[in-house]
Amino acid sequence: MPEGPEIRRAAERVDSAVGGQIADDVFFAFDRLKPYERQLIGQRIDEVTTRGKGMLTRFEGGLSVYTHNQLYGLWYVMRNDRLPKTGRQLRFAIRSGDRRALLYSASEIEVLDVAGERRHPYLSRLGPDVLSQSSTADDLAARLDEPRFRGRQLAALLLDQSFVAGLGNYLRAEILFEARIHPRRRAADCSAEERRRLGNRVIALARRTYRTRGITLAPSRVAELKAAGAPRSDYRFWVYGRGGEPCRVCGRRLEVESAGGRKCFWCPSCQSGRYSGPLRKGEG
Ligand SMILES: [Zn+2]
Repeated sequence: MPEGPEIRRAAERVDSAVGGQIADDVFFAFDRLKPYERQLIGQRIDEVTTRGKGMLTRFEGGLSVYTHNQLYGLWYVMRNDRLPKTGRQLRFAIRSGDRRALLYSASEIEVLDVAGERRHPYLSRLGPDVLSQSSTADDLAARLDEPRFRGRQLAALLLDQSFVAGLGNYLRAEILFEARIHPRRRAADCSAEERRRLGNRVIALARRTYRTRGITLAPSRVAELKAAGAPRSDYRFWVYGRGGEPCRVCGRRLEVESAGGRKCFWCPSCQSGRYSGPLRKGEG
C-alpha cells in the first residue's frame, strides 16, 4: 500500500504534468461525479497536493478533487497519445495539452469545496503530516504524551492518521526498529527520551523514504549491499517483510505478528523493553 512518501511523489508527478495548466478534459468514471466534468473543464489546475495519504487536485474555481488510493489505486502520467498497459479500470483523468494524468482502480474519489474539505471524515481528523516542514520531532514527542494518545499501543497509534498523517504498515515497523522500541509498548510506557527518539525517527524515516523512493534502510548499509550486488528487495528494509530472517544489527531472528490483517515485524533483542501485552486484535 502506498504510504505518505509515495503519495507525495505521485502528486508531484501529476502536478508536473497538469499543475498550472488549463484542464482541456476531465473524466470521472462514477455517475455521481459526472456532472462535475463540464464544470471543471476549462479551469486551471492550481496545484496538486497531499494530506497524509490523500491527494487534492485543486481547481481555480474553488473545487478540489480528493482521491485516496487505498490498496489498489495507481496514477499514471503520460503523453496524451499513449495509454498505459493495464487491465485496471480508469476512474479519474485530467488532460492538459499533450499531457494527462490518469488514476486507475481507486474508489475513493470526491469533489469538495472548502467547506466540504473541513467536514470531510478523513481530511478533517488528520494529525500533523509526516512530510510537512512544519511537523517537528519535538511536537510529535509531546503529542505522544497527550492523554488521548498515551494509553494506546504504539503499533496501533502509528497507523492512526489522526495521531500522525502519512504512515502505513512498512514505515511503522521501520520507525519502531530505528527507535529501538517494541511495537507492543504504549506511549505511556516510554521514557521522555524514548518519546523524543520515536518522534525523531517518524520525521527522519518519512523524509528518507521520500528521498530514496521507498528505501528505509540506512544509506550506508544500502551502499554496502548494492556494492555486493544485492537486489533492491534485499536492501530496502530493516525488518519489514523479514520475519524469521536475522536482524541486520544483532543477528537474532526477527519476529512477526499479524493482527487485524496487518503484519508487524520487530527484533526481540534490539526492541526490548516493558510492554503492555500481546498485540490487540485489529490494532496490529
Ligand atoms: Zn536485533
